[in-house]
Amino acid sequence: MRKPIIVANWKMNFLRDQADLFLQKLLARLGHNQTVEVGIAAQDLFLPDLIKIADDSPISIVAQNAHWENFGAFTGETSPKALANIGVDYVMLGHFERRELFNETNSTVNLKVRTALNDGLDVIVDVEEMEQVEPVLEGITEEQMKGIIIGFEPTFAIGTGMSASTKGAQDVAQQIRKTVRRLYGAPTAQAIRILYGGSVDRDNLADLIAQPDIDGSLVGRASLDFQTFWELVKIM
Ligand code: PEP
Repeated sequence: MRKPIIVANWKMNFLRDQADLFLQKLLARLGHNQTVEVGIAAQDLFLPDLIKIADDSPISIVAQNAHWENFGAFTGETSPKALANIGVDYVMLGHFERRELFNETNSTVNLKVRTALNDGLDVIVDVEEMEQVEPVLEGITEEQMKGIIIGFEPTFAIGTGMSASTKGAQDVAQQIRKTVRRLYGAPTAQAIRILYGGSVDRDNLADLIAQPDIDGSLVGRASLDFQTFWELVKIM
């Protein structure tokens, strides 16, 4: 059985105290619920605080990006090894905004995925279309695939209020699983978690996660209001 997961992508929002308070409230509501995994993808600056607060809880802390090298002359970048070293659980790579605004490509995303996995970070690798799946996974071994979650986030749906249709999202998730089966075999395809992201809200989440190939969701705007996000967690 694949454990459902919902990931809040806070992007570049909140100040430190707001982030801390949000997580404290979430923990208080969630208690020791082990039926759903909740991820919080926050700015790097907030990660140490959030890791401390989430310690020993079912909440996973997610970085929103990392470089493909661990050390060196890369001013302003974040080392995946340093993220692993402070206790980050996942790094999200290949988000649409990284590709669109910061010129990331399949090949840079692939380099980042490889380094992060080598450093012991699990990866949520985002794709906006099916064609990106193979290139971002190039060179990743079957064993390493245990550390991968694939997020499918169609460009037209991100931040627009216009989610993909349930059937459309399921069809692509099914295609992604088929591609993973072709590349890595049935056990890996069965085990890998595939998330849908793009204008997820209270009205569409239940239908989306009821689909056989959708194991959870990535949530942007609806994760910024505590009560709204909590209602989404309850739907999971
Ligand atoms: C995202 O950017 O990952 C996302 C899912 O955003 P939104 O929910 O706002 O569409």
